[in-house]
Amino acid sequence: MKKALVCGAGGFIGGHLVTRLKKEGYFVRGVDIKEHEYKKTDADEFFVLDLRSEKNVREALDGGFDEVYQLAADMGGAGYIFTGENDANVMHNSAMINLNVAKVATEFENMPRVFYSSSACMYPEHNQLDPDNPNCAEDSAYPANPDSEYGWEKLFSERVFLAFHRNYGLEARIARFHNIFGPFGSWNNGKEKAPAAICRKVSEAEDGGEVEVWGDGLQTRSFLYVDECLDGVLTLMRSDCIEPVNIGSDEMVSINDLVDIASEVANKTVTKNHIPGPQGVRGRNSDNTFIEKMIGWRPTTKLIDGIRETYKWIDSQKVKA
Ligand code: NAD
Repeated sequence: MKKALVCGAGGFIGGHLVTRLKKEGYFVRGVDIKEHEYKKTDADEFFVLDLRSEKNVREALDGGFDEVYQLAADMGGAGYIFTGENDANVMHNSAMINLNVAKVATEFENMPRVFYSSSACMYPEHNQLDPDNPNCAEDSAYPANPDSEYGWEKLFSERVFLAFHRNYGLEARIARFHNIFGPFGSWNNGKEKAPAAICRKVSEAEDGGEVEVWGDGLQTRSFLYVDECLDGVLTLMRSDCIEPVNIGSDEMVSINDLVDIASEVANKTVTKNHIPGPQGVRGRNSDNTFIEKMIGWRPTTKLIDGIRETYKWIDSQKVKA
């Protein structure tokens, strides 16, 4: 039986990953600074530990693992990472976790293979000014110019894992996630990202009512449903690909389109009220050319189908709240 450690198992993607690895027959230890807020973990064991401490990371990895999935990070949506108010914590907390995981993983005679979740936020701002034509090809990463400290930390930590690969032979696999969404993630705690926030706002609106949108809503993004993200992660982990790759959807939509999709799912007519708010780059879309060539992965779920599942879950949470 293969052994996997999931760091960030109390979070959105980590929680889904634990469930998926269990279905695939792994022994799974989850670790996080907190328990999962929205569901009971499927992990065989779950340690509540602060991974900013090297000692705690040693405890998390104790016993040795075949695979480590490093998803723990201080992160949130635009309201958390683009206001500037959390920059120091985001950089310090996440960098500490990544430095510890990379180092401690190499202390084992049988080193685990390590997955690291980077982000599309590491791509240069100057390539994402045109909402209709953003460039997020993997080889456009340098010269670096991310638009947030969150993105700079991701870029730094990619380099940490690559350096540990070069100098210590750590088998690291790195994905740059592009807006992953689905049920069982932040939806109303200030860390929610656009799909969850829009589903919540549409769910709260009356039919014929109003939904607030940050900015003019013409900024573009692509959103990947979480199950497909996990397919990409596991395919990457089982490949020889050492280069960082995009894991995202290439179905680019504007934020206004996203509101229309959520209201279609909810069977409501809503008007958009555009208000000032943090927005991030003007345009972003996953370029999947390289990952498809390297590991043969491409997503197939339509955005509306993922939004349908997410909306249903948020609507049910709202009733409970
Ligand atoms: P999340 O916030 O739900 O999960 C991250 C988890 O890390 C949380 O449960 C949090 O408690 C945990 N954590 C934070 N500090 C910790 C610490 N000191 N010790 C132990 N655990 C700690 O976020 P998510 O959406 O599941 O994202 C998972 C990973 O994917 C993150 O690294 C994130 O940066 C990356 N990512 C996510 C997206 C996305 O759209 N969701 C996009 C790009 C990158």
